[in-house]
Amino acid sequence: MATMLLLTFLISSLIMVTVGLAIDFMEILRLGIDGQLSVDPSDVETASLDFGLLTRGQPLAVLHPVSAQDIARVVKAAYGSNQGMTVSARGHGHSINGQAQTTNGVVIQMSGWKGGNKPPRPHVWAEERYVDVWGGDLWIDVLKSTLEYGLAPKSWTDYLYLSVGGTLSNAGISGQAFNHGPQISNVYELDVVTGKGEVLTCSEDENTELFHAVLGGLGQFGIITRARISLEPAPNMSTYSNFSAFTSDQEHLISLHAEPSNQKFDYVEGFVIVAEGLINNWRSSLFSPQNPVKISTLFPTGGVLYCLEIAKNYHESTAQTIDQEVEFLLKKLNFISTSVFTTDLLYVDFLDRVHMAEMKLRSKGLWEVPHPWLNLFIPSSKIAEFDKGVFKGILGNKTSGPILIYPMNKNKWDHRSSVVTPDEGLFYLVALLRSALDSGEETQSLEYLNNQNRQILRYCDEAGIKVKRYLPHYTTQQEWMDHFGNKWDRFYEMKMEFDPRHILASGQRIFTPTFPSLSNMPS
Ligand code: FAD
Repeated sequence: MATMLLLTFLISSLIMVTVGLAIDFMEILRLGIDGQLSVDPSDVETASLDFGLLTRGQPLAVLHPVSAQDIARVVKAAYGSNQGMTVSARGHGHSINGQAQTTNGVVIQMSGWKGGNKPPRPHVWAEERYVDVWGGDLWIDVLKSTLEYGLAPKSWTDYLYLSVGGTLSNAGISGQAFNHGPQISNVYELDVVTGKGEVLTCSEDENTELFHAVLGGLGQFGIITRARISLEPAPNMSTYSNFSAFTSDQEHLISLHAEPSNQKFDYVEGFVIVAEGLINNWRSSLFSPQNPVKISTLFPTGGVLYCLEIAKNYHESTAQTIDQEVEFLLKKLNFISTSVFTTDLLYVDFLDRVHMAEMKLRSKGLWEVPHPWLNLFIPSSKIAEFDKGVFKGILGNKTSGPILIYPMNKNKWDHRSSVVTPDEGLFYLVALLRSALDSGEETQSLEYLNNQNRQILRYCDEAGIKVKRYLPHYTTQQEWMDHFGNKWDRFYEMKMEFDPRHILASGQRIFTPTFPSLSNMPS
């Protein structure tokens, strides 16, 4: 009975798939993949959605690969297909606008695995101070593996349940980027499956063009299957402070990047709080009620507060002097003196702090809700104008989620990568990380927040604030050309070289897959 049910399921699934994929899919099935090619409805459903919950794109099948070869086989079949079949790598599905989705092809589920075979685990080269990781590994697992050797990557994202391939396709930023650059500046080597199905190793010395194109390349040139990431000795502990300050303090802190390590902080971020944001700021969850001053007592009526989050890492061996070092560094800043909150925690807990917030939000049913997030890079010369027009203007007193703000040094970003940043030596990330809720309150609705995002972008445009979007999302090629500016020609050239049929990551909506005529099929 069980066998019959299973067979019925398999047959009905195959009929469903053959309607869309016909010969291509059968071709792939015959290719001998070591992982699993699944048409299981729950796999397909998962791959249809992402963290944003704003778009849905149902793939025809989902591949759970265990090697670069598995991926290469599927991409080759798509490349050779005459039906415009697409292939999209999906890390942990934490995009906002369907960037890892596809409707006419296969989603390669890079993170996690199914069945007996597994992708390779991280391999730490302790002496050389780097780690080789699978493109679908989550950063939390990379951290755990490297900590076994007392080592850790240098540059992070705030949240570690993101995949290596996913963040390297964007940039990967957090409060260490001012010092170490984004994650894409801390990679030595990649293995990539191109849009032609070739498996290529690339680095500064080998297949250099591909290496730079893939970093920040929005998945357009290849699927990252292995990344070699630079490591440093891991600190044991972090002292973490959080206080009101102005952008000049932030800029002062990040200007110290050339100083000896005991004369600078290791992490500099910050967030904006408007009155209502006190409730919604899940990012500041490390600071509990025992903190000396309640933020609400500092609040100017109808105003905005700016909080600086800074961390100083240390080892047990330097624990004696850490308080003095922090005090020395804090002296140079202009915050409200009663507003310093400090907490001491294990390095891994510090890095994994957003996961704690995730757990709380999940328990209240507030994690799996639509996320109309807007991430902008803003030239430093215009940040005051942005503050006036957006934080103190358009937002009113409502935020519906955390708003991060922190500066970065452009010279820590390799201009040869695909990512685009403003044309100034110093620029800010402003991340409006808002959740839409069905609470009946208009200002929390998806429509309201989407409108506000559009208003912010229009304001920047009209005020001549030349922002660049981080984790960008556009729907027309003209908008993408404007986004890339003078990098567009190169981006297009690389696309034609490494993914000429526009098979990969079509969910980014930069290029439309091409349908070759049968006579032009690759041999
Ligand atoms: P996915 O969303 O699955 O994929 C993103 C894109 O990359 C898609 O186009 C996909 O096709 C492509 N892709 C995925 N894997 C590969 C691969 N192996 N090779 C080539 N292309 C691939 N970003 C930051 O920089 N800093 C942060 O602090 C930060 N915090 C976040 C916190 C939360 C709660 C969330 C939801 C997101 C955050 N992000 C942050 C954004 C995050 O970097 C992006 O969502 C990114 O896409 C990584 O997510 P992912 O691994 O799930 O990739």
